[in-house]
Amino acid sequence: MLCRRLTVVALILSALSVSPLAQTSTPSKGGINSIQQEPLKEWLTYIASDELQGRATYTEGLGLAAGYISSHLAQWGVKPAGDNGTYLQIVKVLGVRTNSRAAVTVEVNGQSRTFKDGEEITFPRNMGGKQVVTGDQVQFVGYGMTLPSGTHDDYAKVDPKGKVVVWLGPQGPKTSETGLFRLLSANARARSALDRGAIAVIAPYIAAGGGRGRGTTAPAPAATAPAAATAPAAGRGRGAAADDGDFTTVQRFDQKVPPSVSAQDEFLEFLFSGSDIKYADLKQKIANQEPLPQFVLKGVKITFNVEADYTIVRTRLTHNVVGMVEGTDPKLKDTYVVYGAHYDHIGYRESSMTPGGAPAGGAPEDLINNGADDDGSGTVAIMSIARAFALGPKPKRSLLFVWHAGEESGLLGSRYNADYGPVPIEKMVAQLNMDMVGRNRNDDPKQADTVLVVGSDRISTELHNINEDANTALPKPMTLDYEMNDPADTESIYTRSDHYSYASKGVPIIFYFTGLHPDYHRVSDHVDKIIFDKIQRVAQLAYETGRRVANLDHAPVKDNKGPRVGKTVKGKLRTE
Ligand SMILES: [Zn+2]
Repeated sequence: MLCRRLTVVALILSALSVSPLAQTSTPSKGGINSIQQEPLKEWLTYIASDELQGRATYTEGLGLAAGYISSHLAQWGVKPAGDNGTYLQIVKVLGVRTNSRAAVTVEVNGQSRTFKDGEEITFPRNMGGKQVVTGDQVQFVGYGMTLPSGTHDDYAKVDPKGKVVVWLGPQGPKTSETGLFRLLSANARARSALDRGAIAVIAPYIAAGGGRGRGTTAPAPAATAPAAATAPAAGRGRGAAADDGDFTTVQRFDQKVPPSVSAQDEFLEFLFSGSDIKYADLKQKIANQEPLPQFVLKGVKITFNVEADYTIVRTRLTHNVVGMVEGTDPKLKDTYVVYGAHYDHIGYRESSMTPGGAPAGGAPEDLINNGADDDGSGTVAIMSIARAFALGPKPKRSLLFVWHAGEESGLLGSRYNADYGPVPIEKMVAQLNMDMVGRNRNDDPKQADTVLVVGSDRISTELHNINEDANTALPKPMTLDYEMNDPADTESIYTRSDHYSYASKGVPIIFYFTGLHPDYHRVSDHVDKIIFDKIQRVAQLAYETGRRVANLDHAPVKDNKGPRVGKTVKGKLRTE
């Protein structure tokens, strides 16, 4: 009997045998006006059909979608940019076992102690490549948090650049602000310190709930860790995690990253032993969520010895679908505007939602998460953009189209493509991502003209302004809503879809999104609820923005000014 995977391969191969028609097509078939509702509807009706079973990564349904997208790209003459002359880029998802030999040596006023990984200090399982990091400037930053309201900022008077940062107090300070969940995470606080130039971060060890013993919980991985574990490593030696090793990754995991460790009481007592304020005093204040002092620890030198052997214990394979339209300028065509969407979704339910199963005599129960909006909408949007460029006028730069797999399981396809893609990341001048662009936010009809735009101003003000200008130039401009990009936003939408895999490596991005609705991640995310006018208009905007970027004589300038447009600030920004 044929195994499941082989069935998928056979289906893809048969889909690929469709002969390319593009050579005989006329350019008039492409361009912005070719982005229309009819084809979007035809494609999405298939992509979101029950046949594809919710397109979970590693399933037949995702393979069918890959074959469908590939055969259309071939028809339009979009060049294959995957492996071995195909549209399929193999994504390797690795389960990695860590054998750590890492340690931290602390010297306080000439007295020295070494703590091994797992004894009072814990390194993340994906700690990166071998290195020694030494710091004699150790800065205690209190809670290590900056609240969006501006009422509390631990970095207002402290510059962590070049220092080892220590933060304490998992619960944070007393505050009435809501929505702080993400800011309280060890990840977010490590990112705050490292983004400001810290060379290493020491966090308090947070014991897991559920009666797990001390030492069984790995700390949150550092925000910048290249390995970016997608599933937190469960305790070593526990049965459930045996297959996956200690962490799962699609990225290079042997590169050096700033050490980010979590520490228990004995380590912290020694660390603060030479300071005027002792750890016991701090602990008391932390328990009461009182304001914490900030100070440089006197006479302390810390050495992080990062060293681990990694063994790949599991390999799983999936595919991104990648195609390219070559630019016309002999020099600029070696640089790329990258369009992205994810074609995977969360699959089908293996058990009934209603106790006792489907109602007797009624229609069979719907168990399939069709993902028409998430992210069938983005999938067909970039199909229409690929066709518009392939059959229409070509810009100077080349265009790369990536249908990512594994977004729903932790941005797998985009993380992989950022490290191992057909185009080196330095050659990507911008990445435009569409994830859920086919509905009105909360089904509110007043949102009919609105698209949420996230991240456009953060790395390149110029890119932000190009998108604003492109919108104005459309026959029916959309309302660009920057609420989700607000500097005070605590939902962290910016980090929650594929564009972030590129943005975190310095590529200017724009994330287009039409908002959440009651069918999000439910079996009711059906194609009949999609507003095709919406997909068409968002796709036209993304086409026009990409076209303008692709015709620029320079790459959009990276000024890295962070989020500025938001709830109140809108429109174009000054570049100087
Ligand atoms: Zn989703």
